[in-house]
Amino acid sequence: MECPICTTTLEPTTLESSLRASTCPACGGHFILSSDYLDWRQQHPANLDEQPDPTPLHESTDTSGAKRCPHCRHLMFRYRVGHDIAFGVDHCGSCNSVWLDRTEWDSLKRRNLHDDINRMFTDVWQRRVRAAEHRATMHTIYQEKFGAEDYAEAQRVKAWLDAHPQRQALRAFLTAEDPYSR
Ligand SMILES: [Zn+2]
Ligand SMILES: [Zn+2]
Repeated sequence: MECPICTTTLEPTTLESSLRASTCPACGGHFILSSDYLDWRQQHPANLDEQPDPTPLHESTDTSGAKRCPHCRHLMFRYRVGHDIAFGVDHCGSCNSVWLDRTEWDSLKRRNLHDDINRMFTDVWQRRVRAAEHRATMHTIYQEKFGAEDYAEAQRVKAWLDAHPQRQALRAFLTAEDPYSR
């Protein structure tokens, strides 16, 4: 099999205890067959909880241009990994194999996402990425609109209100022009 980026012949490697992969000696990318990944996942059924990356990459490691699957030659499609993760993972929709550019495996591992790769191509995962992205955008908008200090205060009041047994009456009180008028 050839590297989808630089056409160098891929070499068989072991990425993780028993996870077989093919690695490009020139550009450092990794190709993982779906069957090898699923075998490895079956041997390690526990799913590690996602954690923040202590050394996150802010620049994308993605290589540009369309890639063809080294295994079946179909065009690969790139999927988002997370709203705050700068790179995506290339997936072959025909044979389910995965291509990871250079350091992407290590980046996924630092976040404990290396055991979730097969789930990244599902609608559920992609919807979650978009929802998280929307939340982050709204957070920025509020912060800019209210200023950091007032936004923090508004969040504190909202949390207090949401947990209050009289929240409906309190909301009406707070939004009424004159809550004492008839
Ligand atoms: Zn290469
Ligand atoms: Zn393929």
